[in-house]
Amino acid sequence: MCFTESHEELACCLSKGTNSLGLVHNYILREEESPMSAFEQLGLSQATLKAIHGLGFEEPTPIQTKAIPVALAGSDVIGQAPTGTGKTAAFGLPIIEQITVNSEHIQGLVVVPTRELAIQVAEELNKIGEYKRVRTLPIYGGQDMMRQIKLLKNRPQIVVGTPGRLMDHMRRRTIRLQNISIVVLDEADEMLNMGFIDDIKFILSDIPENKQTLLFSASITRAVENISNQFMREPILIKATPRNITVPSTEQHYIEVPERKKFDVLCNLLDLHSPEAAIVFGRTKRRVDEVNQALARRGYSAGALHGDLNQSQRNSVMNQFRAGAIEILVATDVAARGLDIEGVSHVYNFDIPQDPESYVHRIGRTGRAGRKGEAFTFITHRELDHLRIIERITQRKIKRHPIPTMTDALAGQQQITVERVLKAADEPVLSAYKSIAEGLLEQHDSVTLLAAALKLLTKEPNTAPVQLTEERETRAKKQRTHNPPPRRQRRPRKSHR
Ligand code: ADP
Ligand code: MG
Repeated sequence: MCFTESHEELACCLSKGTNSLGLVHNYILREEESPMSAFEQLGLSQATLKAIHGLGFEEPTPIQTKAIPVALAGSDVIGQAPTGTGKTAAFGLPIIEQITVNSEHIQGLVVVPTRELAIQVAEELNKIGEYKRVRTLPIYGGQDMMRQIKLLKNRPQIVVGTPGRLMDHMRRRTIRLQNISIVVLDEADEMLNMGFIDDIKFILSDIPENKQTLLFSASITRAVENISNQFMREPILIKATPRNITVPSTEQHYIEVPERKKFDVLCNLLDLHSPEAAIVFGRTKRRVDEVNQALARRGYSAGALHGDLNQSQRNSVMNQFRAGAIEILVATDVAARGLDIEGVSHVYNFDIPQDPESYVHRIGRTGRAGRKGEAFTFITHRELDHLRIIERITQRKIKRHPIPTMTDALAGQQQITVERVLKAADEPVLSAYKSIAEGLLEQHDSVTLLAAALKLLTKEPNTAPVQLTEERETRAKKQRTHNPPPRRQRRPRKSHR
């Protein structure tokens, strides 16, 4: 194993040693610092960069930074990174770049374990290939065979398929793999755990040898190792695993909330907490802009911070936030990285971060300088597994918090008003106000008067309609214990995968 001296000089070496499983591995391990980088530095075309922009990705994730240039250079790659770290684009971008658009042959094949993934991966590839006009087709068990055959006749350049259904088409000769130049095994550990080993061997054996193979996996198991030894040519192993994660003393909570209710819940929390300075993190630039505008519409003092703003715009937002002119900063991970802002009492993760390191960065914005902070992370039901992974890696419990209601929000604001009134009463009150008060009390009941004054001073929950574009959920890979037992004697033709 060897390490690079610098980012420019990518040192690598051939390693024939043993890994943690005690297995002989036979790949080139490339370890390097994970430099801060931009998509522009990865060697991608303008059309693809435009598509990434459309997806709202601001900065490549570590596995993307490391794997994309190597895959673009034509090497076989084994990419290992935890779930939710953007492995799809890590192989999707290099595949799209390598497709010859005016050829109508299938040139790229992605093998995935489940039909759900086939659909999801194909969707992402279609988005990445939008401007280059690359067509990707998902094929999976359970979908009508005739319909799939018809769709295959539309000449997709990339097929994303589950093993069983791919084999069906191969046997029927309704798919031609002779022109495949790049193959991806996605979620390889999962596929092999599920007993697809023979299917994968069958599929790989039928593809011309002169091809590039990319294998992505959250773990490198014995079976993954075997497949790579058998089918890959001097693969370069690229790992992007989070390490040395330390969590500040922030109280951490999560709230399970459906995507479309997130914004109301955020408003309720803001009313309940009345933070002096808070940061709301969104996954994409679009998200940040939309949340910022929606907050303004509901009367909050907020400002947006993301990578599309120029330096002077960013400075202006930051200065206002530091000066307290803006109470809520809505930001992407990248924009907020390294910011040292005093007195942030609350961090709200409107979207759960992709990887544990971002999570730690985000909540590290609060509770600084000895003050205790609070962090609230919104997750959809299906993101619970992903949250558990973050908990495991950070070794901190994230407490479940109930969804705050409008009544809670109102109570929070009323409490603030009461405190303000009591504080004002403690200070010398101008005699002019006292005489008005005495005049009013001659004709009105004191409780009614005070209640009316409190109501006027209280910021009541604002329900102005707002609309946000939905973000896709971050999905965690299922834990092994939840996996179905390996199917040893599968009958591929009956597969519903
Ligand atoms: P994995 O395959 O590693 O589990 P995915 O490729 O499914 O992860 O990505 C998880 C989520 O992260 C998806 O919603 C995807 O759109 C998003 N994503 C991927 N790359 C980026 C990026 N560079 N910036 C922001 N979001 C990203
Ligand atoms: Mg994946």
